Amino acid sequence: MSDPASPTLTPDQWQKFSSLLDELTPNQRVWISGYAAGYSAISLSPATTPPHNKSSSPITVLFGSQTGNSEKIAKKLFERIEQTGRPVKIDSMASYKTSQLKRESDLLIIVSTHGEGEPPDNALGFHQFLHSNKAPKVDHLRYAVLALGDSSYEHFCQTGREIEDRLNQLGGEALINIVECDVDYDEKADSWIADILTHLGSTSKPSQSFYTATERAQTSTYTKAKPYQARLLENLPLTAPASSKDIRHIVLSIEDSGIRYQPGDALGVLPTNWPARVEELITHLNLYHADTVASPTLGSTTLEKALLHDLEITTLTRPFLESYAKLADSKELNRLLHPDHRSELRAWIYGREVIDVLKRFPVRGIHTETFIGLLRKLPPRLYSIASSWNADPDEVHLTVGVVRYKSHGIERHGVASTYLADRLPENDTAPIYVHENPNFKLPGDSKTPIIMIGPGTGVAPFRAFISDREATGATGRNWLFFGDRNFDTDFIYQTEWLDYRRKGLLHRIDVAFSRDTDTKVYVQDRIRQNSKDIYGWIQEGAHIYVCGDGQHMAPDVHSALLDILVKEGQKTHDEAGEFLRELQAAKRYQRDVY
Ligand code: NAP
Repeated sequence: MSDPASPTLTPDQWQKFSSLLDELTPNQRVWISGYAAGYSAISLSPATTPPHNKSSSPITVLFGSQTGNSEKIAKKLFERIEQTGRPVKIDSMASYKTSQLKRESDLLIIVSTHGEGEPPDNALGFHQFLHSNKAPKVDHLRYAVLALGDSSYEHFCQTGREIEDRLNQLGGEALINIVECDVDYDEKADSWIADILTHLGSTSKPSQSFYTATERAQTSTYTKAKPYQARLLENLPLTAPASSKDIRHIVLSIEDSGIRYQPGDALGVLPTNWPARVEELITHLNLYHADTVASPTLGSTTLEKALLHDLEITTLTRPFLESYAKLADSKELNRLLHPDHRSELRAWIYGREVIDVLKRFPVRGIHTETFIGLLRKLPPRLYSIASSWNADPDEVHLTVGVVRYKSHGIERHGVASTYLADRLPENDTAPIYVHENPNFKLPGDSKTPIIMIGPGTGVAPFRAFISDREATGATGRNWLFFGDRNFDTDFIYQTEWLDYRRKGLLHRIDVAFSRDTDTKVYVQDRIRQNSKDIYGWIQEGAHIYVCGDGQHMAPDVHSALLDILVKEGQKTHDEAGEFLRELQAAKRYQRDVY
């Protein structure tokens, strides 16, 4: 019998082929389709782009990633190049041998920018080397940079830009111009990968779909494009009514979803904007709730639904302000946007949202499509998961600090925190997905001691760590540093910590309540007070984890660790810095901070 799908195969070939097909899993079939496309392209088709004279030398894909996004893109690029049959390597900037740089011929970099324009932790060493006088000339190098960032930050994509500038300065040739991605990076990253493949002279056509075998395998799980609807089981206050804060313990059901997660992973939540703000925007702009909105990303929907579910209507980004300034034709706004007035703009943005811009710089008769076109997609919010799948396989727990405040005379509601705490009724569902974080993981060896530093809601992943270590019978010692404002009202999960102490699972806990005493006490004070023991634990191979505020707490804790290494380890300040960088590279010092 001839095969309808494969007229070019002989009956004998078809018999072999179809019996192989029967044995294959769906993922293996996807892999084969990609492999075959790449194989035939290399062996049969003429090149569409003149091949580079070093086309057979290995290509290096290098990533610097804080929460795993760059790493995910790097793996996708790696697999796509591999399918073309070109030799390719992939490495993290933390483990990359910088002595190799001068021998590279094609270097493809994917790097995020963190905090106030800093490289992610695992890119620190590479970034420093590149900008030092040890960096070699790279006249023979072709490179490309994909920079990830968040346009609501002043130093958007700074690390990517710096790396690109420096490689250029060192004599490298850009394969294609740097591409900068905002939080909604998927589409741009995909087209960057496609561009790279074209410029590398690869002739491989994407196998049936653009997606790789690994990704296909993952589509059975849930993603931000295809989230799981998780039922809200519990929404409990963790802080006392008299507290100056409102922190909630949120429990979502993932029963029967097949979702698995690991300690250190985050949960992506796709929230809904505060309806009162949506109402205010529509009224202010004199538009209609039912106005039809259509775009490739939104499909066809109404203005009200788009503002509730799809578009960012709070955080101010530079692209939004620049586009709006063209409509508003306001001298003041244009002055604020001038590069010389960056700090003034930063101060002006602080505590303001889209509605404040519309009110301060009014534009008459703005059309629905024009307004929609100014807004970026509403990004999911990531929360560190506070539970262990091994202990609670049907649930995922979050520790949510609820953001409500007043600024410039207006009530403000944090989008995702008030969605979970105030607007999601019990038993209703929230769209969620697991965001893996390979850079915040328990040690592979369960006997390894760990030191966890997590003030405020930064303690969330450590609840997951301890719960997991209990569930899996891990014997490594556990030491927690926790801090918050007041002991009486803000000691979240207090009874659980005491229980873990009693059971012998939490070997040490040190707390710092900053507003119980005249002089503030923070976790780093407790760390310094315990310098000898901390140093001892480090000597014994302990892994150190920091989670929470990245702007003040994390750098202060870093300084305290440096001080300990100087004091107890008799190191110079530089040696201590190098030691911590080595710990970071060895994944013995991991931070999940923002
Ligand atoms: P918080 O604002 O960080 O406050 C917790 C405690 O830290 C308070 O006692 C506070 O004291 C103290 N603190 C203030 N400045 C500090 C410093 N420089 N060093 C050490 N401690 C300091 O707590 P939160 O409201 O729960 O917020 C937690 C922060 O972590 C937020 O920025 C949140 O976005 C972030 N977070 C990040 C992750 C993540 O990256 N995965 C996860 C959870 C939370 P005073 O207020 O009395 O000065």
